[in-house]
Amino acid sequence: MAPRKLAAGNWKMNGTLAALAEIDQLVAAHPSPACDVLICPPATLIHAMATRAAGSVLRVGGQDCHAKTSGAHTGDIAAVELKDVGASHVILGHSERRADHGETDAEVAAKALAAHEAGLVAVICVGETEAQRDAGQTLDVIATQLQGSVPAGATAANTVIAYEPVWAIGTGRTPTNDQIAEVHALMRDRLAARFADGAEISLLYGGSVKPSNAAEIFAIADVNGALVGGASLKASDFGAIISAL
Ligand code: PGA
Repeated sequence: MAPRKLAAGNWKMNGTLAALAEIDQLVAAHPSPACDVLICPPATLIHAMATRAAGSVLRVGGQDCHAKTSGAHTGDIAAVELKDVGASHVILGHSERRADHGETDAEVAAKALAAHEAGLVAVICVGETEAQRDAGQTLDVIATQLQGSVPAGATAANTVIAYEPVWAIGTGRTPTNDQIAEVHALMRDRLAARFADGAEISLLYGGSVKPSNAAEIFAIADVNGALVGGASLKASDFGAIISAL
């Protein structure tokens, strides 16, 4: 089977209840898209968004989870708790969490395992910094992050990988098509070698994806969708990206 196509929105720390109006617009404009559609809003909106999106194509996800299922971890959210309020996915190991919270590959893998056990799809992020790219380390960095962040037991049904160069996030800059293709080919090879259905795991590109560059990026080999930050906040922009996939 070919990998499933996915347009995933990462709202980051943006959105109050008023932002849910964007969802109504998005769902109305795209009743049966050619790809899966996911939005990961702030945790405060997951339940309301999932309730509002019930019966539509829109799936709702978290932006992080704890590796444990419960306990004394003030401020953290367990994967089972995300699942309980209607999430189907959770983004893990985003570079902003790796940078802001010092998350390591091993921690990301533990969280992904918790997500799998809770019945969530883990959207695991990897990506090099600009300094690492300039030093010619990109493929090594991606291979190491992939090996360390994706737990045993990953399947095409419970795991999605997002390649997000740190320097392309929120900057308006994107790698060349060849640079994206090179990283995605490496990820495809490594996943296929390690997991029974690794050739079918969806591989997303993320970092300054917008309506004007989406179609070109989606045409690159082994790009099965996008993880979209800024351009996922407006239904019209995210809708245009969905249409391009
Ligand atoms: P961006 O963010 O689309 O705003 O660059 C992508 C991401 O961080 O997931």
